[in-house]
Amino acid sequence: MESDGNDPSVVVRRRVIARFIRQYRRVESARKRVPENPVGLKLTFEEQRLSAGLKVEDAMHRLVIGLRPFLQKESGIELRDVFAALKEHRPEGFFSEQEIVDFDAAMKALEEEGSGLHCDERAVTRREAYDYIADGGYFDEKDEAVEFLKGLEGGPALSLLRFHFFSVSLDALHIASWLYGCMQEPATGRAEVHGETSPIQGDCIFCRKADGGFTSQDHVFPESLAGDDEVLPRGYVCDRCNAGPLSGLDEVLVNFAPIAVQRVFYLPFTKKGKLPHARVGALSFEKRFPRVIRIQSGSNKNVFADPKPLPDGMVGHTLRMEVKANWRQLARAFFRMALNVIAFRQGRERACAPEFDAARRFILEDQDFQGYFIIASQGKPTPEVQVRVQDAPAATLVTLSVYGVYGELNLQETPLSGDVTEIAREAAEKGFGMIPLFGEPVPLVPVVPENPA
Ligand SMILES: [Zn+2]
Repeated sequence: MESDGNDPSVVVRRRVIARFIRQYRRVESARKRVPENPVGLKLTFEEQRLSAGLKVEDAMHRLVIGLRPFLQKESGIELRDVFAALKEHRPEGFFSEQEIVDFDAAMKALEEEGSGLHCDERAVTRREAYDYIADGGYFDEKDEAVEFLKGLEGGPALSLLRFHFFSVSLDALHIASWLYGCMQEPATGRAEVHGETSPIQGDCIFCRKADGGFTSQDHVFPESLAGDDEVLPRGYVCDRCNAGPLSGLDEVLVNFAPIAVQRVFYLPFTKKGKLPHARVGALSFEKRFPRVIRIQSGSNKNVFADPKPLPDGMVGHTLRMEVKANWRQLARAFFRMALNVIAFRQGRERACAPEFDAARRFILEDQDFQGYFIIASQGKPTPEVQVRVQDAPAATLVTLSVYGVYGELNLQETPLSGDVTEIAREAAEKGFGMIPLFGEPVPLVPVVPENPA
Protein backbone atom coordinates (compact mmCIF):
# COMPACT_ATOMS: atom_id res chain seq x y z
CA MET A 1 0.00 0.00 0.00
CA GLU A 2 1.29 3.43 -0.80
CA SER A 3 0.78 6.59 1.15
CA ASP A 4 1.98 8.93 -1.60
CA GLY A 5 -1.28 8.90 -3.54
CA ASN A 6 -1.69 12.65 -3.40
CA ASP A 7 1.76 13.60 -4.66
CA PRO A 8 1.09 14.96 -8.18
CA SER A 9 4.29 13.56 -9.68
CA VAL A 10 3.36 10.11 -8.38
CA VAL A 11 -0.08 10.45 -9.92
CA VAL A 12 1.45 11.47 -13.25
CA ARG A 13 3.90 8.54 -13.23
CA ARG A 14 1.13 6.11 -12.36
CA ARG A 15 -0.94 7.44 -15.22
CA VAL A 16 1.95 6.99 -17.65
CA ILE A 17 2.39 3.39 -16.54
CA ALA A 18 -1.33 2.62 -16.68
CA ARG A 19 -1.64 4.12 -20.15
CA PHE A 20 1.39 2.24 -21.37
CA ILE A 21 -0.11 -1.03 -20.15
CA ARG A 22 -3.42 -0.40 -21.89
CA GLN A 23 -1.71 0.52 -25.12
CA TYR A 24 0.62 -2.45 -24.93
CA ARG A 25 -2.33 -4.83 -24.57
CA ARG A 26 -3.89 -3.40 -27.71
CA VAL A 27 -0.60 -3.88 -29.52
CA GLU A 28 -0.47 -7.46 -28.27
CA SER A 29 -3.82 -8.23 -29.81
CA ALA A 30 -2.72 -6.68 -33.10
CA ARG A 31 0.52 -8.63 -32.98
CA LYS A 32 -1.30 -11.96 -32.76
CA ARG A 33 -2.62 -11.42 -36.28
CA VAL A 34 0.75 -10.70 -37.81
CA PRO A 35 2.29 -13.71 -39.59
CA GLU A 36 5.98 -14.63 -39.51
CA ASN A 37 8.27 -12.35 -41.53
CA PRO A 38 5.65 -9.68 -42.14
CA VAL A 39 8.00 -7.40 -44.05
CA GLY A 40 10.04 -8.60 -46.98
CA LEU A 41 12.60 -6.49 -48.79
CA LYS A 42 13.96 -7.74 -52.09
CA LEU A 43 16.94 -6.06 -53.67
CA THR A 44 17.89 -6.80 -57.25
CA PHE A 45 20.87 -5.58 -59.19
CA GLU A 46 20.36 -5.74 -62.92
CA GLU A 47 22.07 -3.96 -65.79
CA GLN A 48 23.94 -1.74 -63.37
CA ARG A 49 20.74 -0.68 -61.71
CA LEU A 50 19.64 -1.41 -58.19
CA SER A 51 15.96 -1.87 -57.59
CA ALA A 52 14.11 -2.73 -54.42
CA GLY A 53 10.74 -4.23 -53.74
CA LEU A 54 8.95 -4.26 -50.43
CA LYS A 55 6.20 -6.63 -49.47
CA VAL A 56 4.21 -5.87 -46.32
CA GLU A 57 1.53 -8.07 -44.78
CA ASP A 58 -1.76 -6.22 -44.21
CA ALA A 59 -1.85 -7.06 -40.52
CA MET A 60 1.44 -5.24 -40.11
CA HIS A 61 -0.22 -1.86 -40.62
CA ARG A 62 -2.45 -2.39 -37.64
CA LEU A 63 0.57 -3.22 -35.53
CA VAL A 64 2.51 -0.18 -36.71
CA ILE A 65 -0.41 2.08 -35.79
CA GLY A 66 -0.58 0.60 -32.32
CA LEU A 67 3.14 1.08 -31.81
CA ARG A 68 3.09 4.70 -32.91
CA PRO A 69 2.66 6.24 -29.41
CA PHE A 70 5.75 4.38 -28.16
CA LEU A 71 7.82 6.26 -30.72
CA GLN A 72 6.26 9.67 -30.34
CA LYS A 73 7.56 12.05 -27.70
CA GLU A 74 4.29 13.97 -27.46
CA SER A 75 2.23 10.84 -26.83
CA GLY A 76 3.23 10.80 -23.16
CA ILE A 77 4.02 7.07 -23.36
CA GLU A 78 7.12 7.18 -25.52
CA LEU A 79 9.43 4.32 -24.49
CA ARG A 80 11.99 6.48 -22.68
CA ASP A 81 9.22 8.23 -20.77
CA VAL A 82 7.73 4.92 -19.66
CA PHE A 83 11.15 3.66 -18.59
CA ALA A 84 11.79 6.84 -16.60
CA ALA A 85 8.37 6.67 -14.95
CA LEU A 86 8.96 3.08 -13.88
CA LYS A 87 12.46 3.82 -12.63
CA GLU A 88 11.32 6.74 -10.51
CA HIS A 89 8.10 5.20 -9.40
CA ARG A 90 9.56 2.06 -7.96
CA PRO A 91 11.95 1.72 -5.08
CA GLU A 92 15.69 1.62 -5.75
CA GLY A 93 16.75 -1.46 -7.65
CA PHE A 94 13.64 -2.09 -9.71
CA PHE A 95 15.89 -2.21 -12.73
CA SER A 96 19.34 -3.74 -12.33
CA GLU A 97 22.42 -1.83 -13.52
CA GLN A 98 22.72 -4.25 -16.44
CA GLU A 99 19.10 -3.71 -17.47
CA ILE A 100 19.57 0.04 -17.51
CA VAL A 101 22.61 -0.38 -19.77
CA ASP A 102 20.71 -2.80 -22.03
CA PHE A 103 17.72 -0.50 -22.33
CA ASP A 104 19.94 2.43 -23.30
CA ALA A 105 21.74 0.34 -25.88
CA ALA A 106 18.46 -0.84 -27.41
CA MET A 107 17.13 2.71 -27.59
CA LYS A 108 20.40 3.99 -29.08
CA ALA A 109 20.22 1.37 -31.81
CA LEU A 110 16.69 2.44 -32.58
CA GLU A 111 17.54 6.14 -32.58
CA GLU A 112 21.05 6.38 -34.00
CA GLU A 113 21.85 3.39 -36.21
CA GLY A 114 22.41 4.25 -39.84
CA SER A 115 19.92 3.20 -42.49
CA GLY A 116 22.56 2.68 -45.15
CA LEU A 117 21.22 5.66 -47.06
CA HIS A 118 22.98 8.93 -47.62
CA CYS A 119 21.39 12.18 -48.51
CA ASP A 120 23.61 15.12 -49.51
CA GLU A 121 26.64 13.38 -47.97
CA ARG A 122 24.79 12.94 -44.70
CA ALA A 123 23.95 9.52 -43.33
CA VAL A 124 20.24 9.01 -42.71
CA THR A 125 19.57 7.14 -39.47
CA ARG A 126 16.91 4.45 -39.17
CA ARG A 127 14.93 6.66 -36.88
CA GLU A 128 15.01 9.47 -39.44
CA ALA A 129 13.81 6.99 -42.04
CA TYR A 130 10.89 6.17 -39.75
CA ASP A 131 10.06 9.85 -39.32
CA TYR A 132 10.23 10.57 -43.06
CA ILE A 133 7.71 7.85 -43.85
CA ALA A 134 5.52 8.67 -40.83
CA ASP A 135 5.44 12.41 -41.55
CA GLY A 136 5.50 12.02 -45.33
CA GLY A 137 2.01 10.60 -45.63
CA TYR A 138 1.63 7.55 -43.42
CA PHE A 139 0.50 9.32 -40.25
CA ASP A 140 0.92 12.94 -41.17
CA GLU A 141 1.72 15.20 -44.10
CA LYS A 142 4.57 17.52 -43.25
CA ASP A 143 5.97 19.51 -46.16
CA GLU A 144 9.60 18.71 -45.55
CA ALA A 145 9.05 14.96 -45.35
CA VAL A 146 6.68 14.94 -48.34
CA GLU A 147 9.27 16.82 -50.45
CA PHE A 148 12.04 14.51 -49.35
CA LEU A 149 10.07 11.40 -50.33
CA LYS A 150 9.07 12.94 -53.65
CA GLY A 151 12.75 13.30 -54.50
CA LEU A 152 13.21 9.56 -54.01
CA GLU A 153 10.31 8.39 -56.13
CA GLY A 154 11.13 5.74 -58.69
CA GLY A 155 14.41 4.74 -57.04
CA PRO A 156 15.17 1.94 -54.61
CA ALA A 157 15.74 4.33 -51.69
CA LEU A 158 12.03 4.75 -51.02
CA SER A 159 11.55 1.02 -50.46
CA LEU A 160 14.56 1.00 -48.19
CA LEU A 161 13.15 3.86 -46.10
CA ARG A 162 9.82 2.08 -45.84
CA PHE A 163 11.61 -1.08 -44.79
CA HIS A 164 13.28 0.85 -41.94
CA PHE A 165 9.92 2.36 -41.00
CA PHE A 166 8.59 -1.13 -40.28
CA SER A 167 11.77 -2.43 -38.71
CA VAL A 168 12.01 0.53 -36.29
CA SER A 169 8.41 -0.19 -35.31
CA LEU A 170 9.33 -3.81 -34.61
CA ASP A 171 12.28 -2.66 -32.49
CA ALA A 172 9.86 -0.55 -30.48
CA LEU A 173 7.69 -3.63 -30.05
CA HIS A 174 10.60 -5.62 -28.60
CA ILE A 175 11.53 -2.89 -26.16
CA ALA A 176 7.90 -2.35 -25.15
CA SER A 177 7.32 -6.04 -24.54
CA TRP A 178 10.46 -6.17 -22.39
CA LEU A 179 9.17 -3.23 -20.32
CA TYR A 180 5.77 -4.87 -20.02
CA GLY A 181 7.41 -8.13 -18.97
CA CYS A 182 9.31 -6.35 -16.19
CA MET A 183 6.03 -5.21 -14.73
CA GLN A 184 4.66 -8.74 -14.65
CA GLU A 185 7.64 -10.66 -13.26
CA PRO A 186 6.74 -12.21 -9.93
CA ALA A 187 10.20 -13.63 -9.17
CA THR A 188 11.84 -10.25 -8.74
CA GLY A 189 9.11 -8.74 -6.66
CA ARG A 190 8.24 -6.46 -9.54
CA ALA A 191 4.87 -8.00 -10.21
CA GLU A 192 1.71 -6.00 -10.63
CA VAL A 193 3.31 -2.59 -10.66
CA HIS A 194 0.12 -1.23 -12.08
CA GLY A 195 -2.34 -3.07 -9.88
CA GLU A 196 -3.77 -1.49 -6.79
CA THR A 197 -3.30 -3.77 -3.83
CA SER A 198 -5.32 -1.86 -1.27
CA PRO A 199 -8.77 -3.24 -0.47
CA ILE A 200 -11.74 -1.49 -2.04
CA GLN A 201 -13.87 0.49 0.34
CA GLY A 202 -17.08 2.27 -0.45
CA ASP A 203 -19.96 2.01 -2.85
CA CYS A 204 -20.26 2.02 -6.60
CA ILE A 205 -21.14 5.54 -7.71
CA PHE A 206 -23.99 4.22 -9.87
CA CYS A 207 -25.80 1.54 -7.82
CA ARG A 208 -24.49 2.68 -4.39
CA LYS A 209 -23.78 -0.94 -3.51
CA ALA A 210 -20.52 -2.55 -2.48
CA ASP A 211 -21.13 -6.14 -3.55
CA GLY A 212 -20.98 -5.87 -7.35
CA GLY A 213 -17.28 -6.74 -7.61
CA PHE A 214 -14.54 -4.23 -8.36
CA THR A 215 -12.01 -5.79 -10.67
CA SER A 216 -11.70 -3.13 -13.34
CA GLN A 217 -11.14 0.56 -13.80
CA ASP A 218 -13.75 2.62 -15.57
CA HIS A 219 -12.95 5.20 -18.23
CA VAL A 220 -14.56 8.57 -17.64
CA PHE A 221 -15.49 8.65 -21.33
CA PRO A 222 -15.89 5.48 -23.38
CA GLU A 223 -12.43 4.17 -24.09
CA SER A 224 -13.27 3.64 -27.72
CA LEU A 225 -13.86 7.37 -28.17
CA ALA A 226 -10.90 9.00 -26.52
CA GLY A 227 -10.75 8.38 -22.89
CA ASP A 228 -7.44 6.77 -22.28
CA ASP A 229 -6.12 9.50 -20.02
CA GLU A 230 -8.99 9.87 -17.64
CA VAL A 231 -9.67 6.74 -15.69
CA LEU A 232 -11.57 6.35 -12.44
CA PRO A 233 -9.68 4.39 -9.79
CA ARG A 234 -10.68 0.79 -9.27
CA GLY A 235 -13.52 0.71 -6.77
CA TYR A 236 -15.60 3.58 -8.16
CA VAL A 237 -17.76 1.63 -10.58
CA CYS A 238 -18.73 -1.98 -9.89
CA ASP A 239 -18.40 -4.80 -12.40
CA ARG A 240 -22.12 -5.48 -12.31
CA CYS A 241 -22.95 -1.95 -13.50
CA ASN A 242 -20.01 -1.83 -15.88
CA ALA A 243 -20.84 -5.05 -17.67
CA GLY A 244 -24.59 -4.44 -17.44
CA PRO A 245 -26.50 -1.24 -18.16
CA LEU A 246 -23.43 0.96 -18.55
CA SER A 247 -21.85 -1.02 -21.34
CA GLY A 248 -25.13 -0.79 -23.26
CA LEU A 249 -25.05 3.00 -22.91
CA ASP A 250 -21.47 3.13 -24.20
CA GLU A 251 -22.67 1.29 -27.29
CA VAL A 252 -25.49 3.79 -27.83
CA LEU A 253 -23.03 6.66 -27.72
CA VAL A 254 -20.35 5.09 -29.87
CA ASN A 255 -22.90 4.04 -32.50
CA PHE A 256 -24.75 7.35 -32.62
CA ALA A 257 -24.27 8.16 -36.31
CA PRO A 258 -22.42 11.51 -36.10
CA ILE A 259 -20.05 10.07 -33.50
CA ALA A 260 -19.70 6.69 -35.21
CA VAL A 261 -18.59 8.27 -38.49
CA GLN A 262 -16.10 10.63 -36.90
CA ARG A 263 -14.66 7.81 -34.87
CA VAL A 264 -13.60 6.16 -38.12
CA PHE A 265 -12.02 9.37 -39.33
CA TYR A 266 -10.22 10.36 -36.16
CA LEU A 267 -9.50 7.26 -34.16
CA PRO A 268 -6.27 5.48 -35.09
CA PHE A 269 -7.58 2.12 -33.88
CA THR A 270 -10.24 0.65 -31.66
CA LYS A 271 -9.67 -0.56 -28.12
CA LYS A 272 -9.24 -4.06 -29.46
CA GLY A 273 -6.43 -2.81 -31.66
CA LYS A 274 -8.39 -3.01 -34.90
CA LEU A 275 -8.89 -0.32 -37.48
CA PRO A 276 -12.24 1.33 -36.81
CA HIS A 277 -15.29 0.92 -38.99
CA ALA A 278 -18.89 2.07 -38.73
CA ARG A 279 -22.20 1.40 -40.39
CA VAL A 280 -24.81 4.11 -40.68
CA GLY A 281 -27.94 3.06 -42.48
CA ALA A 282 -26.86 1.79 -45.90
CA LEU A 283 -23.42 3.38 -45.60
CA SER A 284 -20.31 1.69 -44.33
CA PHE A 285 -17.13 3.48 -43.33
CA GLU A 286 -13.95 1.52 -43.05
CA LYS A 287 -10.46 2.72 -42.22
CA ARG A 288 -8.02 0.81 -44.41
CA PHE A 289 -4.80 2.62 -43.55
CA PRO A 290 -4.18 5.56 -41.20
CA ARG A 291 -5.09 8.04 -43.90
CA VAL A 292 -7.34 5.99 -46.15
CA ILE A 293 -11.03 5.48 -45.46
CA ARG A 294 -13.32 3.49 -47.70
CA ILE A 295 -16.93 4.58 -47.83
CA GLN A 296 -19.42 2.21 -49.42
CA SER A 297 -23.08 2.65 -50.00
CA GLY A 298 -25.46 -0.29 -49.98
CA SER A 299 -28.12 1.67 -51.85
CA ASN A 300 -28.22 3.31 -55.28
CA LYS A 301 -28.85 6.72 -53.83
CA ASN A 302 -25.93 9.06 -54.35
CA VAL A 303 -24.85 10.14 -50.92
CA PHE A 304 -22.17 12.53 -52.09
CA ALA A 305 -23.37 15.97 -53.04
CA ASP A 306 -21.97 19.42 -53.90
CA PRO A 307 -18.58 18.52 -55.40
CA LYS A 308 -16.19 21.38 -54.64
CA PRO A 309 -12.58 21.64 -55.83
CA LEU A 310 -10.12 22.05 -52.96
CA PRO A 311 -6.82 23.99 -53.09
CA ASP A 312 -4.72 20.80 -52.96
CA GLY A 313 -6.26 19.44 -56.18
CA MET A 314 -8.67 17.06 -54.45
CA VAL A 315 -12.42 17.32 -54.65
CA GLY A 316 -14.52 17.82 -51.55
CA HIS A 317 -18.01 16.41 -51.12
CA THR A 318 -20.74 16.93 -48.64
CA LEU A 319 -21.91 13.71 -47.15
CA ARG A 320 -25.60 13.48 -46.37
CA MET A 321 -27.10 10.96 -44.05
CA GLU A 322 -30.22 10.61 -42.04
CA VAL A 323 -29.74 10.36 -38.34
CA LYS A 324 -32.06 8.18 -36.37
CA ALA A 325 -31.55 7.89 -32.68
CA ASN A 326 -33.17 6.98 -29.45
CA TRP A 327 -32.73 10.37 -27.79
CA ARG A 328 -33.58 9.15 -24.34
CA GLN A 329 -30.92 6.45 -24.51
CA LEU A 330 -28.45 9.00 -25.79
CA ALA A 331 -29.35 11.28 -22.87
CA ARG A 332 -28.68 8.43 -20.45
CA ALA A 333 -25.28 7.91 -22.01
CA PHE A 334 -24.50 11.62 -21.52
CA PHE A 335 -25.74 11.51 -17.92
CA ARG A 336 -23.52 8.54 -17.27
CA MET A 337 -20.43 10.43 -18.51
CA ALA A 338 -21.47 13.46 -16.47
CA LEU A 339 -21.58 11.47 -13.23
CA ASN A 340 -18.20 9.94 -14.08
CA VAL A 341 -16.79 13.43 -14.53
CA ILE A 342 -18.10 14.49 -11.11
CA ALA A 343 -16.47 11.44 -9.53
CA PHE A 344 -13.22 12.05 -11.39
CA ARG A 345 -12.97 15.74 -10.55
CA GLN A 346 -14.73 16.05 -7.22
CA GLY A 347 -14.31 12.58 -5.75
CA ARG A 348 -16.45 9.57 -5.00
CA GLU A 349 -18.20 11.12 -2.02
CA ARG A 350 -19.53 13.99 -4.07
CA ALA A 351 -20.68 11.64 -6.85
CA CYS A 352 -22.57 9.55 -4.28
CA ALA A 353 -24.51 12.57 -2.94
CA PRO A 354 -28.30 12.01 -2.65
CA GLU A 355 -29.09 14.87 -5.06
CA PHE A 356 -27.84 12.62 -7.86
CA ASP A 357 -30.00 9.62 -6.89
CA ALA A 358 -32.66 10.44 -9.48
CA ALA A 359 -29.95 10.69 -12.15
CA ARG A 360 -28.63 7.30 -11.03
CA ARG A 361 -32.07 5.71 -11.45
CA PHE A 362 -32.40 7.30 -14.86
CA ILE A 363 -28.99 6.03 -15.95
CA LEU A 364 -29.27 2.48 -14.62
CA GLU A 365 -32.98 1.73 -14.73
CA ASP A 366 -34.30 4.16 -17.32
CA GLN A 367 -36.71 5.61 -14.76
CA ASP A 368 -38.28 8.97 -15.54
CA PHE A 369 -36.21 12.00 -14.59
CA GLN A 370 -37.77 15.39 -14.02
CA GLY A 371 -35.49 17.30 -16.32
CA TYR A 372 -34.38 17.83 -19.90
CA PHE A 373 -31.51 16.92 -22.10
CA ILE A 374 -30.49 19.68 -24.45
CA ILE A 375 -28.72 18.76 -27.63
CA ALA A 376 -27.38 20.97 -30.39
CA SER A 377 -28.70 20.30 -33.87
CA GLN A 378 -25.42 21.32 -35.50
CA GLY A 379 -21.90 20.52 -34.48
CA LYS A 380 -18.39 21.15 -35.67
CA PRO A 381 -16.44 17.92 -35.91
CA THR A 382 -13.57 17.72 -33.45
CA PRO A 383 -11.73 14.58 -32.49
CA GLU A 384 -12.13 15.06 -28.76
CA VAL A 385 -14.40 15.09 -25.78
CA GLN A 386 -14.79 18.37 -23.92
CA VAL A 387 -16.58 18.88 -20.68
CA ARG A 388 -17.53 21.70 -18.32
CA VAL A 389 -19.14 21.46 -14.91
CA GLN A 390 -20.95 24.33 -13.21
CA ASP A 391 -22.13 23.98 -9.66
CA ALA A 392 -25.07 26.20 -8.82
CA PRO A 393 -27.61 26.13 -5.99
CA ALA A 394 -29.78 23.05 -6.54
CA ALA A 395 -28.19 22.45 -9.93
CA THR A 396 -25.15 20.65 -11.28
CA LEU A 397 -24.89 21.68 -14.89
CA VAL A 398 -22.70 19.62 -17.16
CA THR A 399 -22.00 20.44 -20.78
CA LEU A 400 -20.34 17.82 -22.89
CA SER A 401 -19.12 17.92 -26.43
CA VAL A 402 -18.42 14.45 -27.78
CA TYR A 403 -16.77 14.69 -31.19
CA GLY A 404 -18.72 17.90 -31.75
CA VAL A 405 -22.05 16.47 -30.60
CA TYR A 406 -22.96 19.00 -27.97
CA GLY A 407 -25.23 18.18 -25.02
CA GLU A 408 -26.27 20.00 -21.85
CA LEU A 409 -27.83 18.56 -18.73
CA ASN A 410 -28.53 19.13 -15.07
CA LEU A 411 -27.61 16.13 -12.92
CA GLN A 412 -30.17 17.23 -10.35
CA GLU A 413 -33.89 17.02 -10.94
CA THR A 414 -35.43 20.45 -11.49
CA PRO A 415 -38.93 20.64 -12.89
CA LEU A 416 -39.14 23.70 -15.14
CA SER A 417 -41.66 26.34 -14.25
CA GLY A 418 -43.27 28.54 -16.87
CA ASP A 419 -44.30 27.65 -20.38
CA VAL A 420 -42.01 24.80 -21.38
CA THR A 421 -43.34 24.71 -24.94
CA GLU A 422 -42.31 28.33 -25.36
CA ILE A 423 -38.83 27.65 -23.95
CA ALA A 424 -38.48 24.64 -26.26
CA ARG A 425 -39.51 26.73 -29.27
CA GLU A 426 -36.92 29.39 -28.45
CA ALA A 427 -34.27 26.72 -27.98
CA ALA A 428 -35.16 25.20 -31.37
CA GLU A 429 -34.74 28.59 -33.04
CA LYS A 430 -31.22 28.76 -31.65
CA GLY A 431 -30.53 25.25 -32.91
CA PHE A 432 -31.08 23.27 -29.75
CA GLY A 433 -33.44 20.37 -29.13
CA MET A 434 -34.95 19.95 -25.68
CA ILE A 435 -35.64 16.35 -24.81
CA PRO A 436 -37.92 15.77 -21.83
CA LEU A 437 -36.70 12.83 -19.79
CA PHE A 438 -40.14 11.94 -18.45
CA GLY A 439 -43.45 11.05 -20.00
CA GLU A 440 -43.96 10.27 -23.68
CA PRO A 441 -41.04 10.67 -26.09
CA VAL A 442 -41.30 13.77 -28.25
CA PRO A 443 -40.09 14.03 -31.86
CA LEU A 444 -37.23 16.45 -32.26
CA VAL A 445 -35.04 18.25 -34.75
CA PRO A 446 -32.44 15.85 -36.09
CA VAL A 447 -28.78 16.32 -35.27
CA VAL A 448 -26.66 16.61 -38.39
CA PRO A 449 -23.05 17.64 -37.93
CA GLU A 450 -21.07 18.69 -40.96
CA ASN A 451 -19.13 16.08 -42.84
CA PRO A 452 -15.73 15.65 -41.19
CA ALA A 453 -13.98 14.69 -44.45
ZN1 LIG B 1 -22.69 -0.60 -9.40
